[in-house]
Amino acid sequence: SWLRICERLKSEVGDVEYRMWIQRITLGPLDEDEIVLYLPERFLRDWVRAQYGQRLQSLWREESPLVQHVELRVDKKAQRAASADETPAPSEPTMPARSNISIMAKEDAAALERESSSPSHSTGGEVRNDLAVPLDRRFTFDNFVVGKPNEFAYACAGRVADHPASPGFNPLFLYGGVGLGKTHLMHAIGLKLISRGNISVAYMSAEKFMYRFIASMQSKSQMEFKEQLRSVDVLMIDDLQFLIGKNSTQEEFFHTFNALVDAGRQIIVSADKSPSDLSGLEDRLRTRLGCGMVADIHATTFELRISILEAKAKASGTPVPPKVLEYLAHKITTNVRELEGALNRLIAHADLVGRPVTLESTQDVLKDMLKAHERRVTIDEIQRKVAEHFNIRLTDMSSARRARAVARPRQIAMFLAKQLTSRSLPEIGRKFGNRDHTTVMHAVNRVSELMEQDPGLAESVELLRHMLES
Ligand code: ADP
Ligand code: MG
Repeated sequence: SWLRICERLKSEVGDVEYRMWIQRITLGPLDEDEIVLYLPERFLRDWVRAQYGQRLQSLWREESPLVQHVELRVDKKAQRAASADETPAPSEPTMPARSNISIMAKEDAAALERESSSPSHSTGGEVRNDLAVPLDRRFTFDNFVVGKPNEFAYACAGRVADHPASPGFNPLFLYGGVGLGKTHLMHAIGLKLISRGNISVAYMSAEKFMYRFIASMQSKSQMEFKEQLRSVDVLMIDDLQFLIGKNSTQEEFFHTFNALVDAGRQIIVSADKSPSDLSGLEDRLRTRLGCGMVADIHATTFELRISILEAKAKASGTPVPPKVLEYLAHKITTNVRELEGALNRLIAHADLVGRPVTLESTQDVLKDMLKAHERRVTIDEIQRKVAEHFNIRLTDMSSARRARAVARPRQIAMFLAKQLTSRSLPEIGRKFGNRDHTTVMHAVNRVSELMEQDPGLAESVELLRHMLES
């Protein structure tokens, strides 16, 4: 039904976008193979068609395979009919009460108005700028931990903060995976520039840029929007990949970009991929984005994660044992934000219960969080890797042969199966040629002992574990 489609769109696009666009749609007459949706203004219709047309169509098809076409029409009355509080059409009993729609629409318009004309005011640690969003004072260069994976990006950011718009560094394009410090570096640049005063800096996400742009069209203040943007010394747009498929906003950004660079202003852009890999952005825009300095933030290394954790633990003032830091750096490998979140949770928990952070408390407090990070390793995989490593046949993992050259690797595989999977001892036994659970338990204990006595063996096991986990 329409309601179900709305719900799905809402979860896909988020609340704000949903309220701004999707909620303004009124369902028109339903035909077997054609759906008509109304929007109260042409501008809205065009926008919804451009941004969500395809998705609406495919969602309708999922609801009813007969639907050939979803038609978006302008109907000025759609809004007015809405306030007339009619009972919804009987063919669509799940349609939300229409009177809500117009109320929401008014609220949105008001919200947009408030946003675009919001006067600058400071709240707490934020630095506000009329056009853009506040900079977070915690995201400074000093608070950024530098290591091999990010040193180049860090150096470029520092350079731009010290000498904006210098040749070769305009635009500065920062890219890398989620939670690796792109936003942090952009804020750091902004904060440093502002601290020296007399320079206007605008930071906003690409999403925000789009909303601003759309709002300006809606309120017929495009010129003002353009002028505001073009009057800044430094423009930073975060997460540019958001503009993929948003063609009119891309176009606007392209013009802004050119105007600013031509006027000798600095542009800083971040994205999750390099310009050449951002397929879906217009070619001419990608070309220009790659014209200045392109800096990649690589995935963190274990060393960098440890350094970051050490710095954050120190700043918190709560002692955290090195073992715990190592444990976290081992378990949470992709995203510094999550690493930080885990540490904060530990510290908060320790403060709350009034006990120090220990490895045990860590495992307990972060149980759920860490589960999500565990790659599911299968016993088959373990057997394969171990057999390969010790150069034995895979079938020997479940054979009855007891020669040590075969039995030892088999025990190691059982040990790893116990450690890396959530299988029970009997389940593991079954996978190893229907062995008894006591055999598995013996193997697990034996391998632990051996690892303590024999560093060479311990290293092999660690290596195997590492290969299986990554
Ligand atoms: P991105 O924008 O690349 O997704 P963020 O800049 O938002 O990532 O970083 C996520 C979190 O991790 C932030 O709280 C940030 O301060 C922190 N962070 C990331 N990298 C570092 C680093 N090298 N040193 C200190 N903190 C970092
Ligand atoms: Mg970011």
